Amino acid sequence: AKQRGKSQYAFFESSMKMNLIRSMTLENSLRSAIKNEEFYLHYQPQIDVRTGLIRGFEALIRWEHPQLGKISPLEFIHIAESTGLIVPIGAWVMETACKKMVDLNRVTGSNMIISVNISPVQISNEQFPAMVEETLKRSGLSPNLLELEITENLFINSFEVAIKIFDRLKAIGIKMSLDDFGTGYSSLAYLKNLPIDTLKIDQAFTRDLLIHKSNEHLMESIILMAHTLEMDVIVEGVEELEQFDRLKTYQCDHVQGYYFSRPMDTNQLEDYFIKMK
Ligand code: C2E
Ligand code: CA
Ligand code: CA
Ligand code: CA
Repeated sequence: AKQRGKSQYAFFESSMKMNLIRSMTLENSLRSAIKNEEFYLHYQPQIDVRTGLIRGFEALIRWEHPQLGKISPLEFIHIAESTGLIVPIGAWVMETACKKMVDLNRVTGSNMIISVNISPVQISNEQFPAMVEETLKRSGLSPNLLELEITENLFINSFEVAIKIFDRLKAIGIKMSLDDFGTGYSSLAYLKNLPIDTLKIDQAFTRDLLIHKSNEHLMESIILMAHTLEMDVIVEGVEELEQFDRLKTYQCDHVQGYYFSRPMDTNQLEDYFIKMK
């Protein structure tokens, strides 16, 4: 037993070393990933429940590492955050996504929204509102077609600072969306006091929706509450028709999930619109 304990310890230690080496490698590679054009975006449609039309798309970053292959954002975003690299990476995402949406809207003759994920690290940067304004100007996207997805983590540090930033961003005319609702320190105070346009209910709720009766009530109550506060609701992670049907009866505004479409690269996006015509 002693022998085994020792080798397990050695294994643990070496796997820790491997993890450390991997994250150091990723950190180094991240520094040159924009320049080397290793990032690209996927776009996942958000469907308007009442009309069945596309309300907009969420932009999701992808990274193809030259040696390690595809790296999930779940792995590299926090490295980008801790090194501050999320600032230029986030600016690249916004620029690329806004330009794509201007193209798509022109080609399809529509006014679809682009939702961009924003890290708390980015938004706390003084230059952030100016960066957003410049990006809108350069891309020609109308401000009301840009939506920023933020999470509740932003408010952990300072609620007052967050409100100031929100006011500046709202003055630009863009939409603000609260992502992953229900996973963090969801508080009614945030919801009541912040100018949030859209509430995104986390996919964990959707997953449990048809499993227990209490989940149905919870989902319905959150949607009702959001509407009382004059917010739109997007439910994430809709994978089955049955979930969609249920959400319709709860007056959910928009849905997003594999049942409608996986996130698509730009080629798939073009095919998608050709098929829809
Ligand atoms: P998120 O913002 O909550 O994005 C939704 C995630 O759920 C995406 O994972 C999406 O591919 C996945 N998803 C969509 N529909 C379904 C479904 O029906 N079922 C299931 N099981 N999953 C679904 P992805 O693309 O791997 O992104 C993971 C997270 O990485 C995102 O979660 C977001 O927090 C972060 N992220 C992605 N792109 C960016 C970015 O450009 N900037 C920042 N700051 N974070 C990003
Ligand atoms: Ca999101
Ligand atoms: Ca989410
Ligand atoms: Ca998430």
